[in-house]
Amino acid sequence: MPARARVERPAVRFKPPGRIHHVAVVVASLEAALPLYRDLLGLPLETIMDIESDRVRIAFLGVGESKVELVQPTDDTTGVARFLAGKGEGFHHVCFEVDDLAQELTRLGIDGVELIDSAPRRGAEGPVAFLHPRSCHGVLVELIEKPGGPAWKSLGYEA
Ligand code: ZN
Repeated sequence: MPARARVERPAVRFKPPGRIHHVAVVVASLEAALPLYRDLLGLPLETIMDIESDRVRIAFLGVGESKVELVQPTDDTTGVARFLAGKGEGFHHVCFEVDDLAQELTRLGIDGVELIDSAPRRGAEGPVAFLHPRSCHGVLVELIEKPGGPAWKSLGYEA
């Protein structure tokens, strides 16, 4: 009996995320949360902005090579608002920075990870996509593309 040729899965080459870009916390009120994060913990406030398309107000505070994102829902129709209503304030998602977001989504999708966004979309800080907590051991995972990556250009960022 001829030896069966061994079929090897091609080695998947990819670069792991370079850093945690941010950790996000859902809050009822930015004004109520900033005295802790900015004043008591001393994290520098980088930006506050309304993301009208997502119906949230967010603040980014710097900490080393990463940030804390505070997310306040501005109406009660969104997933973030339901999170706040159901679970209260607390940890919401972690965001990893990757070099090529579209490529990562393709790779993760092929490997069976459930994608909330199958393609990069515009986020406040760059192209982003979310992975479903069902595929991530209960944690909502966001991926963001490093500045200058291919999705920055295709989504029309100026950087
Ligand atoms: Zn985020």
